[in-house]
Amino acid sequence: MTNFIFENTWEENEEAVKTKKLAIIPVGSTEQHGPALPVGTDWMVARYLAEQIGKETDKGLVAPVIPYGHALYHADFTGTMAVSQTTLTAYVKEVCQQLVSYGFTHFLFVNGHGGNNNALYDVGQYLRLQNIPAANMQWFEVAGCLNPEWGLIGHGDITETSVMMHIAPDMVKVERAHIPQNRKIGNIQLLDLHRGEFEGADIYLNLRTRDVSKTGDLIEHGHSAGVDYSRSAEDASAELGKAVCEAVVGYTLRFIDEFVNFEFEYII
Ligand SMILES: [Zn+2]
Repeated sequence: MTNFIFENTWEENEEAVKTKKLAIIPVGSTEQHGPALPVGTDWMVARYLAEQIGKETDKGLVAPVIPYGHALYHADFTGTMAVSQTTLTAYVKEVCQQLVSYGFTHFLFVNGHGGNNNALYDVGQYLRLQNIPAANMQWFEVAGCLNPEWGLIGHGDITETSVMMHIAPDMVKVERAHIPQNRKIGNIQLLDLHRGEFEGADIYLNLRTRDVSKTGDLIEHGHSAGVDYSRSAEDASAELGKAVCEAVVGYTLRFIDEFVNFEFEYII
């Protein structure tokens, strides 16, 4: 018997879920990541972290990775395979509902892609109505909180590139890494996929990645305070990636120990 639902027989799973009541679901995306990283980056990282967590924990079982995410705004770059937020929400909801029927009482999403957040929030609210707690651990946000130098700079940034160099070094074209330039349209500087800056104030805009960046990778301003945006993915290293992964896995294991005891006071 393992901590991976897909490696066990149904009889082993039936036995395991008697004591391991946390379902750990890695959720990723298949989307372009600029010239240096493979389009599978987000689901590969989510799967890797969930694997490491699954090897260490005695509180939960790991489900197969969900490789498609909400990333239609990246679809102007070949190989991106995304689904709508509505589809992702419905899909994850149905996966969770089956796990509920087997006796899982808590859910943890190991999320590799920020665009999935709203869908996972909607799934979590659906589970909340059944008095089931759901948490969403977005690895790069946790990394930035654990160490500000690891904070999110952008899509295909130094931290993400380093993590891929650690878990799948043969897939990283590190010689193609660079500091991306977000476009300026007239006097409006595009800050990320959602916002532009005009006369010192931010305005929300509706953009696709290709509107912001020719190469697909981009800077995302304003996510983490004190972040140095001049750091380049060229400076990425497997050592940095290893440190980030170990820190995020360690944090998540400690969170799991706390979270499995999480109960709502208000029962619906
Ligand atoms: Zn990514």
